[in-house]
Amino acid sequence: MGDDTTLGTVVLGLEGFALREATLVDGEVCLAVETVGRRPGCPDCGVVATARDRRTVQVRDLAIGGRPCRLVWSKRIWRCREPLCPTATWTERRDDVARPRHGMTERARTEVCRQVGKLGRPVAQLAGEYGVGWQSAMHAVTDHGVPMIDDPARTAGVSSLGVDETSFLKASYLRKRRTTFVTGLVDLNRSRLLDIVPGRAGSAVTDWLEGRDEPWLSAVERVALDPHRGYFNALVGGLDAPTVVVDAFHVIKLANTVVDEVRRRVQQEQTGHRGHAGDPLYGIRRILLTGAERLNDKGQARIAAGLAAGDPDAEVWYAHMIKEQLRSVYRADGLGQATERLEAFFDDVAAVAIPEIRRLGKTIRRWRTEVLTYFETDGLSNGRTEAINGLVKRIKRIGHGFRNIDNYRIRLLLFCGGVNWQDHPTAHIRRRSPRLIA
Ligand SMILES: [Zn+2]
Repeated sequence: MGDDTTLGTVVLGLEGFALREATLVDGEVCLAVETVGRRPGCPDCGVVATARDRRTVQVRDLAIGGRPCRLVWSKRIWRCREPLCPTATWTERRDDVARPRHGMTERARTEVCRQVGKLGRPVAQLAGEYGVGWQSAMHAVTDHGVPMIDDPARTAGVSSLGVDETSFLKASYLRKRRTTFVTGLVDLNRSRLLDIVPGRAGSAVTDWLEGRDEPWLSAVERVALDPHRGYFNALVGGLDAPTVVVDAFHVIKLANTVVDEVRRRVQQEQTGHRGHAGDPLYGIRRILLTGAERLNDKGQARIAAGLAAGDPDAEVWYAHMIKEQLRSVYRADGLGQATERLEAFFDDVAAVAIPEIRRLGKTIRRWRTEVLTYFETDGLSNGRTEAINGLVKRIKRIGHGFRNIDNYRIRLLLFCGGVNWQDHPTAHIRRRSPRLIA
């Protein structure tokens, strides 16, 4: 038996196995293998076992030479000869190679997890490639992925925390279902998604923080968040006096929403219907949200023409101006200038009786301190959170919409949660070997 062990170990990569036969069946590589080595002791009494029988088990393994592969493992059944021993017979096991009832080798399952988790491939695709059901493939992802996700090292050392809501299921997925939200927690320094929790209430964040230990909590110095009181209270209550920045991206988004709202209202008042192609304001709905500094002369002229035709009381114009004013706060050169610009913004908000703008002014005023803190934290923002949201969307697309939030969470954290994938180091192949040339 001896030499085969080495061959088995090298070619199969399975310590203690021997390769007996390799056949090609319907384009699939079938490897007949068995364990080699000394007879084991009885697990109960330790008496050396005697061979009784064999049983063949087939498991899917990693592909070989581009072909699907199955291990045909001839398992030994051992018998204990000790008359007083309660154990009569047992089948050999190698849980490091393949666990009972998994249908796949552990290394194949690890690979399925890597492909789905690290590379973001669809579970169904891997299930197809390995000839297993979707559930088996997803179990492989869960079994191998969860320990990596739960590794405390993954979430260690966070000093800047971002909190952001993201939609989980779009309402259109099924008509009946409302859009549900999850809250994402992000390490802003290292751009990794720490976790997602269901809902967008402050309690979701509080509960998550309660799961961290004291050193973790006290290491968080700064937080960036959506302008959302629930998040604010949870973070200030759960952390040790953090510096709070309301996220610049979301502040601008609020202003953009106001431009949209005013435009829709004026549009309705002027035309008596919702925006149609051909309506002057509808035609400039997107360009109104574009940063003014990014518009060329043609863009400016389009806005001017659209407003001249559809905005007789200059309400949309005012909303647009206010939005640009708020944006200019973030381009300020330092806290002093930012404060001046923000005050000018408040003055201009107060100068008109446009309800949408008044509301925006009120909201921003409530967050005045946290808006300006941006300038004391080197511009801490959820910009990276937004980048992660992009990845979130990608995973959602791949998953064709998720219904199960646990699976969604696992896949997201494996993809952008800073998981430490321990891949095999691969040596570069030299196309010519110097020794052979000589
Ligand atoms: Zn025994």
